Amino acid sequence: KLPQAIELLPKVQAFLEETKGLYINGEFIQSKAGKTFDTINPSTGDKITDVYEAQAEDIDAAVEAARDAFDHGSWSKMDAAQRALLMLKLADLMEEHKMEIAQIDALDNGKPINEVLGNDIPNAVEQFRYFAGWATKNMGQVLPVAGNFLNYTRHEPVGVVGQIIPWNFPFMMVSWKVAPALATGCTVVLKPAEQTPLSALYFAQLVNEAGFPPGVINIVPGFGPIAGEALVIHEKVDKIAFTGSTDVGKGIMKKAADTMKRVTLELGGKSPNIILQDADLSTAIPGVLSGIMANQGEVCSAGSRVFVHRSQSEEIIKQMVNYASKIQQGHALNFATQMGALVSEKQLNRVKNYIEIGVEEGATLACGGKSANNGYFMEPTIFTNVSDTMTIAQEEIFGPVVVVLEYDSLDELVERANKSNFGLAAGIWTQNLKNAHSLAAKLNAGSVWVNCYNMTDPASPFGGYKQSGIGREMGSYALQNYTEVKSVWINL
Ligand code: NAD
Repeated sequence: KLPQAIELLPKVQAFLEETKGLYINGEFIQSKAGKTFDTINPSTGDKITDVYEAQAEDIDAAVEAARDAFDHGSWSKMDAAQRALLMLKLADLMEEHKMEIAQIDALDNGKPINEVLGNDIPNAVEQFRYFAGWATKNMGQVLPVAGNFLNYTRHEPVGVVGQIIPWNFPFMMVSWKVAPALATGCTVVLKPAEQTPLSALYFAQLVNEAGFPPGVINIVPGFGPIAGEALVIHEKVDKIAFTGSTDVGKGIMKKAADTMKRVTLELGGKSPNIILQDADLSTAIPGVLSGIMANQGEVCSAGSRVFVHRSQSEEIIKQMVNYASKIQQGHALNFATQMGALVSEKQLNRVKNYIEIGVEEGATLACGGKSANNGYFMEPTIFTNVSDTMTIAQEEIFGPVVVVLEYDSLDELVERANKSNFGLAAGIWTQNLKNAHSLAAKLNAGSVWVNCYNMTDPASPFGGYKQSGIGREMGSYALQNYTEVKSVWINL
């Protein structure tokens, strides 16, 4: 039983009372085999509710619905302006129901409700408003070809899109995927992560309420190797948009090759966050800490490798430890909580394992490293005496664990920061503009943040270099993910 301060809204209680159905062709239905799975509250380890689990046959039904909506349904004939209106209506509904969504995500993921309300939901709402604007502006070009021809391009929707998302930002990830797909006129089958299916199903209720035609958006909770794979290999799916781990992304790319599906991938990271000697430490230290500790460190772009000048390391580490010790951990539904639980026992064990490896390889635990007895909590953890080649400095931990790496000169920084298979993001803290621009140009990363960290906006592209992914989400760049370009020639 939850304490008084964190009571659920009646609408959320009602939402959780019955087994949650798959959302296919505008209806909430049982999976054909009737199989269900439990969702767990990471703050306590207790079961929240049951969800129907999609099998290959359910994925098939969802894809057929999306196919029909794309090829024949009213969606296929709808003006772009009308599509935009539906998207705006959905955004309004999301805003109207933000408290319910925030409680559901906090409950399902373990992340603090304040973060869902302050970041995830406003960001998700803005995605729909921003991409609604693009629906009427995804224009082709008239091209100056040689000879007596008119040549122009049409930007056409790629078709039925399979979307597979992770658990770290359950509701926000739905919006990053669905909004640009709808703007271009695609139809969608989205599989949320098995750890956090609930807010995507609440979103489906709002899709219904907004009045989208059946089959345009289908939400099919289930497990990766079953439901996810069925989507990836389905012959009637034109494109897969995936966010998740690099290993699963590689497998998806291979399997999608059989049907030559378009694939975009948003994968993992091990991002450097660099404090230059002239940085204003009063903003750099909290900025660097929140760059790794926000969302319990379960952020693909988390600044998990912090570079500090050797002459300053003692002072910076002292301040980092002091800051980390003040982070308030607790139940995700409590408004005072600043850091919640990790998403699952499996994730907690993964993080614990990396902490053991760090100690075994000779790094020093400056603070943290302990987990709690109930709920999947891990203390904010800082490792010092770390070398670039240690496992904890190379592999993505996806938890509140940061390694501090010392440098002696600016010259060595670029090479060391880039010494990673990943290239998702990087941070620079400095008051010297010349160094900021020069480093920003040299770092192999899809996003570089100077004197800030983890900034995103629907207008600005996000995605990875190297093994952090292929393609960009958000901004006009995201439209390319969901568009085929047709070149039309008219002999004049
Ligand atoms: P994961 O790869 O295990 O799972 C992600 C999704 O893929 C889930 O929905 C899962 O069910 C599905 N999946 C798993 N196996 C599959 C298979 N064989 N075929 C099809 N689908 C399959 O990752 P995770 O542990 O849920 O998420 C954490 C990872 O996601 C981290 O590596 C993180 O960096 C990455 N991530 C990246 C971004 C980004 O934008 N680059 C954003 C968030 C998370």
